[in-house]
Amino acid sequence: MVDDHATSAKPTSAYSKGFGVSFASEEASNYFFMAVHKWKDAGDQLSNGSVTCGKETNRFDRKIESSSAKLYFHYYGQLLHQQNMLQDYIRTGTYYSAVLENYVDFQGRVVVDVGAGSGILSLFAAQAGAKHVYAVEASGMAEHARKLIAGNPLLSSVITVIHGKVEEIELPEKADILISEPMGTLLVNERMLESYVISRDRFLKPNGKMFPSIGRIHLAPFSDEYLHVEIASKALFWQQPNYYGVDLTALYDTAFQGYFSQPVVDAFDPRLLVTPPITHTIDFTKIKEEEFYEINIPLNFTATMATRVHGLACWFDVLFNGSAVPRWLTTAPGAPTTHWYQLRCVCHSHCMLWQDKQLLGTLIWLHTVLKVTL
Ligand code: SAH
Repeated sequence: MVDDHATSAKPTSAYSKGFGVSFASEEASNYFFMAVHKWKDAGDQLSNGSVTCGKETNRFDRKIESSSAKLYFHYYGQLLHQQNMLQDYIRTGTYYSAVLENYVDFQGRVVVDVGAGSGILSLFAAQAGAKHVYAVEASGMAEHARKLIAGNPLLSSVITVIHGKVEEIELPEKADILISEPMGTLLVNERMLESYVISRDRFLKPNGKMFPSIGRIHLAPFSDEYLHVEIASKALFWQQPNYYGVDLTALYDTAFQGYFSQPVVDAFDPRLLVTPPITHTIDFTKIKEEEFYEINIPLNFTATMATRVHGLACWFDVLFNGSAVPRWLTTAPGAPTTHWYQLRCVCHSHCMLWQDKQLLGTLIWLHTVLKVTL
């Protein structure tokens, strides 16, 4: 790489160069790609210049494109959306019980609240007797959290709000316990679990605790004729041969596929499930960040009855493995509804399942793309 800006007549404050590199083989290309990543991770110096992107600075930026990150943190910067989570009483109440019932895990301990939002979990940890809580929040909500915490003077003296990304900020000491609510739909959506495990590697003492420590994704086929008809009928609009004199039918297939490719997020009756679920467990205390990039779950269900299958239903739960009382927060169908509801991927054509026969498939989660085959 040659930096030839010295030859330019016009002085500028920033320089960027684009270049193309061809490789003789895929192996050589992969080798180059790995070498660049290694160099970025090590934060090494270039022979003809210096590099400012350190190891952690880039881990968030590599994950999410900057305009999406802005939108993401703009969303969480609004009180309305924090209120929505606070008003999920199943969610917030379970965190409250898990922390207060297990106060022995917090008393006299250093806590990091990963993605503190309004600061609610930091305040719970302080109520449980934490020695100090670092409330790390990347969005503008950090300022509101400061206000909320200052408004609770009996707790505020042990809480420090830090406005920044967990990938980038530094803390003055290591934590005994991490607390966070990083779950999205299907558990892994939003990709905040990656930030949670990065925080573990950066801030948690060896053998420190994580609240939650384990997440489980549950998957089962369902039968729901009404849902299938409801989705199919949305596309019927495109079957009109004379819409103000225009034939819309050329786009019918595209619209039909489009509606069925959208997962449905709602609460459904567990009686719609046609087999016992499969469970995929993620141990937050052990998993590597890279393992979240692609999640591949083989599906193998055995039918307990003959029925039509219209798709795959998914939900998750997480464990607070407290020393006194282990507690689960579940989003299962039939359990009290949370703001995550459940997620269903609906197939455009149903399949018939016979008793004692197997239904095979895969669920692939690739960054933000969910692909289900049955
Ligand atoms: N802990 C709060 C908020 C949970 S929502 C509660 O339980 O109510 C998740 C929060 O994490 C959001 O406010 C979001 O802005 C923040 N967040 C997401 N990724 C982050 C990161 N990499 N660094 C710091 N904060 C992050």
